[in-house]
Parts: sequence; structure tokens; C-alpha cells
Amino acid sequence: MGSRVERHQHHHDLVPLAALLSREMRNEKMEKPSVRYGYAAQSRKGEDFFLMKTDCQRVSGNPSSVFSVFAIFDGHNGSAAAIYSRDHLLNHVLNAIPRGLGRDEWLQALPRALVAGFVKTDKEFQSRGLTSGTTVTFVIIDRWTVTVASVGDSRCILDTQGGAVSELTVDHRLEDNVDERERVTASGGEVGRLSIFGGAEIGPLRCWPGGLCLSRSIGDMDVGEFIVPIPYVKQVKLSNAGGRLIIASDGIWDALSSDMAAKSCRGLPAELAAKQVVKEALRTRGLKDDTTCIVVDVIPPDNSTPPSPPPKKQNKFRALLFRKRSHDSASKLSRKLSAVGIVEELFEEGSAMLADRLGNDDTCNQSTTGLFMCAICQTDLAASEGISVHAGSIFSTSSKPWQGPFLCADCRNKKDAMEGKIPSGVKVV
Ligand SMILES: [Zn+2]
Repeated sequence: MGSRVERHQHHHDLVPLAALLSREMRNEKMEKPSVRYGYAAQSRKGEDFFLMKTDCQRVSGNPSSVFSVFAIFDGHNGSAAAIYSRDHLLNHVLNAIPRGLGRDEWLQALPRALVAGFVKTDKEFQSRGLTSGTTVTFVIIDRWTVTVASVGDSRCILDTQGGAVSELTVDHRLEDNVDERERVTASGGEVGRLSIFGGAEIGPLRCWPGGLCLSRSIGDMDVGEFIVPIPYVKQVKLSNAGGRLIIASDGIWDALSSDMAAKSCRGLPAELAAKQVVKEALRTRGLKDDTTCIVVDVIPPDNSTPPSPPPKKQNKFRALLFRKRSHDSASKLSRKLSAVGIVEELFEEGSAMLADRLGNDDTCNQSTTGLFMCAICQTDLAASEGISVHAGSIFSTSSKPWQGPFLCADCRNKKDAMEGKIPSGVKVV
């Protein structure tokens, strides 16, 4: 090839290549929303704990695989279970995800890994012989995908720009959750109120033995095994308008509805929003309980300027914001567009049966050595050792005792106990 032609081609190629590169960079940038967050708390018993980590990496050493974790642990009967979960749960979840997965596969593997991580953390904590328990609301944000796993009643809500507020958790509270009342009863627990002298019943519904108002938690070795650590899991993909997550302990939710909490802090940057939600809850109900709130904004890259700081007078600021919105046609248009951008629901499952939660896959929990691993605690299983999660399960529609995933004897005992197949009153650890 002559140099003239080559030069010509070179020149000809450069322009589209540059265009392509800038388009790629733009796309890459578009794929990465930024995450801003704020935290506020008022303590009464000192049993609320939290985790905020924005520098987790799916592939260690690869900064483009960064994801964030936010969690609240509301302890009861002491704080040991909350602290233990804060310190170990994340690792247990990540260790339950097979190695070498791409982003999409990794996100798909998360719901199952969350179940394994919660149960493993519970088992480990109980083996220490400490009696406290904790709620857990655990949120993983990878770009636009939000995955929430929860036991107990520390709620996570999503406020999208169109003004729709949705709950990403269910409350595992016996008082409000009929399904959980039925499950507890079917697993050998009793549900009732506290009886005081004279036979009058007071307070919220509790399960016995133990007297806990929650039906799911981590820890709590001194209550029935029907109080399970198996989380409700929901995974959604936000529209490219982003959204705001509010994660808070029951100190907030006993005072404010999801709508009230979302509305109380709209227009404020995350840091101030968290403070505002706590302030609003205290104003409504006073400090009756530990009250913790994390606000996380998933912000589209185009919209990277932080919201303007509020002036000193709150009401004036709201009025300004409202006036600006209703008179500015550009804002109207963007509101219309974000209303079109619907949040996509990718996964939702709340069953307390491990057979439903760990799937039918028998290839995924094979270790690198070719041995099978326990789907909960990830220990290698000898050839004769593994027991299928489906073995003898009368509830499973596809009862296939030869099909994985498999459990070690310990985890299988734990499973049977949680399902009421081992006489209650004895915790298996
Ligand atoms: Zn195991």
C-alpha cells in the first residue's frame, strides 16, 4: 500500500474513531450513576448499628466493578447480634457468590447468596452462645440495580422522581403480617399477646416461646427456631432518572408512614435529608426508641450537580421549589419523562423455605476442587456427606433428592429446625 493511500485512510479513520470513543465514554458515563448518602441517628438504647461502604469491588483491583453497601441492624436484648452481623454478613454474602462472574450473572447470583449469607451469619452467631438478636436491612447498589435483603422491621423505601414511593422490604412483624403468623404457627410456634395478672392481654402480637414481636431475625437463640434468618429479597433496576432510598429502623417507621418519610425530605441533599427524617420522626413521636436513618441518592450522571442547599427557613425553601417547578416548562418535561421511566422489578422472593430459595441448580456450588460445597456455609462436602436441599421436602413441587444444591449435615439440621421438623425449644447450632 502506498503511503498516500495509507495517510488518507489514517486521516479518514481518525474522525469516526474519535467520535466512537467519545460516544463510548459517554455511554460508559451514562451507565454509572453517582451515589450520595447521608446518615442520622438518635440513640435511646444504643442497639442500632449501621454499615455504609461505597468502595466494594466485584472484581478486586478493578475500579469499574465498584458497588455500594448500606445496611441497618436494629438489635434487641443486647447489641452483640447487631455488631456481629455488621462485621460478618457482607463477607458471608460475597463468599457465597461463585467466582469469575460478569456483572449480570453476579447480580443474578446475589439473591441466593444473600440467603446463604444471612443463614450462615445466624448459625455462626448462635454458636457463640450469646442471646441477643437483630433485624437486618441490607442494600447493595450496583449502578442502577438495587438489591435489598431484610429480616425484621427496619424498612427500605424507594422514592422515584415521578413522586411514587414504594417499599423494597416487607415488615416481618407478627402484628401486621398474616403470612408470617401462619408460617410460625405451622412450624410449631404460638402467636399471642402478653397476658398480665388477671388475664388481660396487652401489647402487640408475639410468638412463643420467646415473646418476640418479629418473625424473622439474626441471632435470638433463646426463642423458637421458627424465628428464621431467611431474608425477603427484592431486586429492582431504577430508570435512568435514578431515585432515593430511605433505610431506617422502626424508630422512624413507628412515627412516619413511608409516604410521610419520603415527602418530609424531598429536595434536600442526602446528608440533610437523613437528618430531616429523624427530626420529623422525633417531632411526631418523641424519642421512644433508637432511631436511625440512611438516605441514599442514586443520581444520573447528567444531573451531577448537587441539589442546592436549603436556605435557613425550611418553608420558604419548599415554596420556592414548588413555584420553580410549576412555572418552569423544562422541569415539567423532565418530570413527565421520569414518570415514563418505570422502575423495573428484577426479582422478588420472601419464602422461608430454603428449597424455594436456593434453587435447583446443581452446578453452581461446585468448588474449584470439583467437590460439592454446602450451599449455606460453603464448606467442602465429602462425597457421602451432602444432603440435597430438596431431600424429603414435602413442600417442594420438584422433590428431587439427588439434585443440588447440597447442604452439610449441620445446615440440614438447621433447615429442618427452621421448618418445625425438629421439636421446638432446642436450637440447633
Ligand atoms: Zn453447611
